Amino acid sequence: MKTVPDFWFEPHPWINGSWQPGSESVTVSNPATGSPLAQVTRASAAQVNLAIEGAAKVFTEWRQRSAVERGNILKRIATLLLERKDPLARLLTAEQGKPYPQAVAEIEYSASFFQWFGEEARRLYGRVVPHPEADREFIIEHKPIGVAGLITPWNFPLAQAAKKISAALAAGCTAVWKPAEATPLIALAVAPLFREAGVPDGAIQIVPGRGSVIGNLFADHPAVRVLSLTGSTSTGSSLMAAASRSIKRVSLELGGNAPFIILPDADLAFAAEQLCRLKLFVSGQVCVTANRIFVHSDVVAKFIDLVAQRLSSAHVGNGLIDGVDSGPLIHQHACTEVGTLVEQSLQAGARCVVSNRSYEADRGNAAGAFYPPTLLTDVKDDMPIAQQEIFGPIIPVLQYIDYSDVVQRANATPYGLAGYVFGGDISRCRAIASGLDVGIVGVNEWRPLKAEIPFGGVKQSGIGAEGGEEGIREFLDTQVISLPKPKY
Ligand code: ADP
Repeated sequence: MKTVPDFWFEPHPWINGSWQPGSESVTVSNPATGSPLAQVTRASAAQVNLAIEGAAKVFTEWRQRSAVERGNILKRIATLLLERKDPLARLLTAEQGKPYPQAVAEIEYSASFFQWFGEEARRLYGRVVPHPEADREFIIEHKPIGVAGLITPWNFPLAQAAKKISAALAAGCTAVWKPAEATPLIALAVAPLFREAGVPDGAIQIVPGRGSVIGNLFADHPAVRVLSLTGSTSTGSSLMAAASRSIKRVSLELGGNAPFIILPDADLAFAAEQLCRLKLFVSGQVCVTANRIFVHSDVVAKFIDLVAQRLSSAHVGNGLIDGVDSGPLIHQHACTEVGTLVEQSLQAGARCVVSNRSYEADRGNAAGAFYPPTLLTDVKDDMPIAQQEIFGPIIPVLQYIDYSDVVQRANATPYGLAGYVFGGDISRCRAIASGLDVGIVGVNEWRPLKAEIPFGGVKQSGIGAEGGEEGIREFLDTQVISLPKPKY
């Protein structure tokens, strides 16, 4: 069993390079055991404003550093994250609940964004455009927008922030980061790494606190020029409304309701294994997780058997214990919400094939926020479980007969984040993938996300993108300079 590391940081807001005790404290607990890990103080309104003003002050200096220098600092952050990945991952598991190997993978994934944007910093090219008048020319330049207000959720408490911070710093912006209330520790734990890598004090401020309070402070401060949120669609809507008061740019990564489509010629054992990995990953609390599993009627019985075997053999428990495949949910309220969706489905005619309660074997899990990985069949499109984002380890199976019908059903949701297609005929998979109204599709793959590609939703799943060459644009303004053309 792994242990919770001793803290090398203080549980207070990180402002201008030091920890500054905040106004009131909140208990952060281990969701696997229910036991408290720390009392973290929230940033007061005055501290949030101080943090924004500190970030605005250092912005004038940071933006003028060379792209190479900014990039090298980002790459040093990546190196430091990888060097410290064991204690960081143990802390992440204790705070968030995901199994230790998944926490290690999150640190590595986070580092990949610092590495990627460390390289992208050097590629912020502008362009020269011919003017209609012979003696003039246009120069188009991309400039850092200013201070970014970053708001992140608890499912990937480091990676969701890493995507934003790395792009913002590469662009020449500074940022104030509000981590989720359930997971502020990993944020405070990486603060000294930023400093060690050479990020100037004030360029990344960390202000734990309530979402709506800090969101409004960000929205109303004139120095904040962009609000970047990863969270639920309803939070995105509230933040967008707040941002409209002073016309701030918003960049939103919101909820999903991903279809996972099994074609009749799919390798069913492989698809079942990939589906279970996806649904056990962070206990299904992932915006891109499969929410509706559409299986062709010719293969549905065999596919359900394969998924049932794999799901019932998974080891659910405390993520710090070796060999655990899936941890708890983030808190008891999350269990209640998932449980309600499952109950509604059963009452409406769905059938429960697997409910894996292996965590009950360990008495240490008695006070944990565990919900059994569950396989439901006979799910219908109009059941709430097929219409809402589940955020839990539930596999709801729906049947289809016709290819064009399945694409239409898959798209019949206000969300459009991710989709998955499993099949043998790649051109058919490709055609179905193209028909899905989503930001990213994995064909015969459960986790297509990488730093190299833009990730962002369509419809109510978001605005903008993270990663790829697109991710940095969220933090840039475009300026045109029209000037006389030098003669030679
Ligand atoms: P989740 O359901 O994953 O917790 P939320 O959207 O509730 O998603 O939370 C994501 C982040 O948004 C958290 O840091 C949370 O504190 C913050 N948040 C919640 N409500 C608001 C709001 N009205 N304005 C700004 N941020 C918010």
